Amino acid sequence: MNVPLLDLKAQYATIRGEVEAAVREVFESQYFILGPKVKECEEALAAYCGAAHAVGVSSGTDALLLALMAEGIGPGDEVITSPYTFFASAGSVARLGAKPVFVDIDPVTYNLDPARVESVLTPRTRAIMPVHLYGQMADMGPILELARRRGLVTIEDACQSIGAEYEGRRAGTLGTYGCFSFFPSKNLGGAGDGGAVTTQDAARAAKLGVLRVHGMEPKYYHRWVGGNFRLDALQAAVVNVKLRHLDDWTRARQANAARYNLLLREAGITGSGDVIGPRAITGRHVFNQYIIRAARRDALRAFLQQRGIGTEVYYPLPLHLQECFAYLGYRQGALPESERAAAETLALPIYPELTDAQASWVVESMAAFYAS
Ligand SMILES: *Cc1c(COP(=O)(O)O)cnc(C)c1O
Repeated sequence: MNVPLLDLKAQYATIRGEVEAAVREVFESQYFILGPKVKECEEALAAYCGAAHAVGVSSGTDALLLALMAEGIGPGDEVITSPYTFFASAGSVARLGAKPVFVDIDPVTYNLDPARVESVLTPRTRAIMPVHLYGQMADMGPILELARRRGLVTIEDACQSIGAEYEGRRAGTLGTYGCFSFFPSKNLGGAGDGGAVTTQDAARAAKLGVLRVHGMEPKYYHRWVGGNFRLDALQAAVVNVKLRHLDDWTRARQANAARYNLLLREAGITGSGDVIGPRAITGRHVFNQYIIRAARRDALRAFLQQRGIGTEVYYPLPLHLQECFAYLGYRQGALPESERAAAETLALPIYPELTDAQASWVVESMAAFYAS
């Protein structure tokens, strides 16, 4: 049986007609840059998240970059973030000439450990960027409290966690900014690159909107140096269609996670010490990934591969040990939980269209590996 890590064709088959109609509308209108589809997308996304404002942008990476730019963060500034995340979280900080400051993660949620943040604060700290990894929000309470006390901006990297909740509030609405990605493998993916920034603050939303078009307002007058960070109307059209299905897909992801939890426990794989499953600690988990921590991770991965099961290692090398960040001076062992997660975690297929038979095959195959 073939079980890919992600099966976008299976999803497309369920929405083909709707997507084709929406895309055709854009072509018929020939309105490709901003316009009604982007506006509709921004309003629907803000409503979905419970945010006051959403600004459509060119990618999740650019969402992070734009939020930092809107705060004027640059050389001499420090931004605290997680070393165990996709590169863009820290890359966006470094691109602006600011310094990423890494704080180790909580080993259960894989998110920034709030207890460790205070010790790295300096007079140069401008922002905290918690990352809501794999579909679960970071422990925002203490992070927001610290940010408030120290007058810091909070930028939520919510690229993997649209619809996740913390104390009943959705990702992207607790911090100063929320950054989202429509990369195709995210829970709400477009047909290419796209993203959005949410904020509760009207002045910040307006500035994001201006920075997105070269800092231009009115036309050909530039108050700030911005860039071309626009969300394409075609991408917005696709995202508008998919947003209507997001809750169904999220429920399917959660049901698949519950199925894995049960099957892995029944098979004696979790609880035995071989494998530790994911735990939803901070609220509604939307399972962009189902992450296990596995003894003999690499051998398990190779074994599953032979049986037609796709898995992935997110992320094999934490950011503080990346070559491009050598100048920051971190050494192996500096952030041990992040390094251990990088060595031990594995993502299993969790996409909404995964069938019961496929999930059973994954667990049977894992049982066979640990029995051998
Ligand atoms: C995907 C992702 C990004 C970047 O989004 P793009 O749309 O690919 O630029 C940033 N941060 C995290 C945590 C992500 O998963």
